[in-house]
Amino acid sequence: MSLPPATLSLDLDDAWTYMRAAGRPGWEATRSVVPEVCARLLAMLDRHGLRLTLFVIAADLEHPDRVAAIRPFVERGHEIGCHSWHHEPTFAALQPERMREEVLRAADLIEARLGVRPKGFRAPGFAWSPRLPAILREGGFHYDGSPLPTFLGPLCRAYYFFHSKMSKAEREQRKAMYGGIKDAFQSLRPSRYPGAPELWSLPVTTIPLLRTPFHTSYVVWLSRFSRGLASFYLRLGLGLCRLRGVAPSYLLHSLDFVGNGEHRDLDFFPGMDVAWARKEAILEDTLTALRARFTVLPMGEYLAPGRGIAARAAS
Ligand SMILES: [Zn+2]
Repeated sequence: MSLPPATLSLDLDDAWTYMRAAGRPGWEATRSVVPEVCARLLAMLDRHGLRLTLFVIAADLEHPDRVAAIRPFVERGHEIGCHSWHHEPTFAALQPERMREEVLRAADLIEARLGVRPKGFRAPGFAWSPRLPAILREGGFHYDGSPLPTFLGPLCRAYYFFHSKMSKAEREQRKAMYGGIKDAFQSLRPSRYPGAPELWSLPVTTIPLLRTPFHTSYVVWLSRFSRGLASFYLRLGLGLCRLRGVAPSYLLHSLDFVGNGEHRDLDFFPGMDVAWARKEAILEDTLTALRARFTVLPMGEYLAPGRGIAARAAS
């Protein structure tokens, strides 16, 4: 019997995006983590025989070394998604024309530099906006991977604000970051947008019933208290997805691939006190657990006619 489907994606957030979102000075000049993250990620995916969706920030494609690090993903059949042009921390509050640019210019740049037109979009900081579906439709996108249905969104935002040096106005502009309480009640399953039926919404999966995130950054954070607890929490999430018939949309982040002491400007970020060796062990365990339970696909393939969701609906 074939395993039920799951999707895997990574948001290729560079060091500057974390510093900028937290209002840290010097973000423009900080060292990129993209080459190192891509090398580690690609080696790991090859070992597991997995392909994923890599959500790329178009501004990073101005740098030849970052393009060179990302190109092997295209060559090996991974999907390239769009993670906006400049990863604006105020994405959901942008004026309509600026938001259009952030999405449409980004898709054009990705196509020009990598030779593939992205079909999937994920907003920076999961900051969804009701204006987004119409813009995605205009850009020829097939799906939006932005929603994060969790109760913890407002808590994450509070944590972020607490550790930043932002003014009240800057905080106000970032208030859609990580979503709000009402987002926790959204479905975990893919759905079509009303008024844009060719466009799928495919949320990042949180644990069914609990609605707490269980992507790798959270598992790494829990491992600081107990490795056993972290492993139990991951398996609880995957197990409840199987039980409830939810295809997990499992999310990785760049900093899951950067260990303590490897980038001093990022020491402030949660989980950056954990060594790479431990993060690598958690990632290995996660990918092993995922593929033991699910057929893992890039997001676009899961939504494509005749694959994951469509094949199952027809059977
Ligand atoms: Zn991001």
